[in-house]
Amino acid sequence: MENIVPAEIEKYIMEYSSAETKNLADLNRETFVKAMMPQMLSGQVQGKFLEFISRMINPEYILEIGTYTGYSAICLAKGLRSAGKLITIDINEELTPMVKKYITLEKLEDKIEVLTGNAIQIIPTLTQQFDLVFIDADKNNYANYFDLVIEKVRPGGWILADNVLWSGKIISQNMDKDTLAIDSYNKKIQQDPRVENVIISIRDGISIARKIG
Ligand code: SAH
Ligand code: CA
Repeated sequence: MENIVPAEIEKYIMEYSSAETKNLADLNRETFVKAMMPQMLSGQVQGKFLEFISRMINPEYILEIGTYTGYSAICLAKGLRSAGKLITIDINEELTPMVKKYITLEKLEDKIEVLTGNAIQIIPTLTQQFDLVFIDADKNNYANYFDLVIEKVRPGGWILADNVLWSGKIISQNMDKDTLAIDSYNKKIQQDPRVENVIISIRDGISIARKIG
C-alpha cells in the first residue's frame, strides 16, 4: 500500500494531526516487528480519522471485517456509545493474542468481540443491526461483503471500505486481480440505489456509503 498523496504532504498531515496514544504507538511498532505486511495497519492519520468518524456517528454496533493487529478496531471502538459493541473478524488466528493484548491495555475488552474465521461464513450468523461497517479484508470479497452486510445495516447507517484507490492502480489500463475487484466494488456501490457514496483520498482511499432511508 502506498499513499497516493505526495510524501511531503503526507508528512505535513502527520505532523499536524494528533499523535498516537502510547498503546497505539506500541501496537504500531510491534506490528512492524512481528507481523507480515505491516503496511496494512491503519496508522496514525487513518486511525484518528476512523476514531473521529466513529465518534461522529456514536454507533451502538460496529462490524469490522479484517482485524489484522487490531489497530483500526481500537480506533473505531473509541466512538461507541456506552452500551455499544464492536465485532471484528479475521481469518488469521496467529495475531489474535497480540490483538487481545492491546484491547486489554486500552480497556476495551468489554466492547470489542474478536471473532476468528472466514468472514464470508461468519457474517451470515450475526444478528445485530449495525450502525457502521468497516470492510478491510480480502479485496476479492469486497462486493460479497457488501451484499452480506447491506441488510444488516440500519437505514441511515454507514459502510466504509478501505484501500479503494489501491495505491492509484485503480486508474491503470491493465488492472491485476485485486485492482479489478476493488474497481468493481466502487462501481457496484455507485450503481446501487440503496446507498449514496463518496470516495475520499485519505491514505489509500476510503469509500463511505450511506444506506438511504
Ligand atoms: N483493519 C486493519 C488491517 C486489516 S488487513 C487495520 O486497519 O489496521 C486485512 C486482514 O484481512 C488481514 O489480517 C487478513 O488476515 C484478513 N482477511 C483476509 N481474508 C479474510 C477473510 N476471508 N475473512 C476474514 N478476514 C480475512
Ligand atoms: Ca486497509
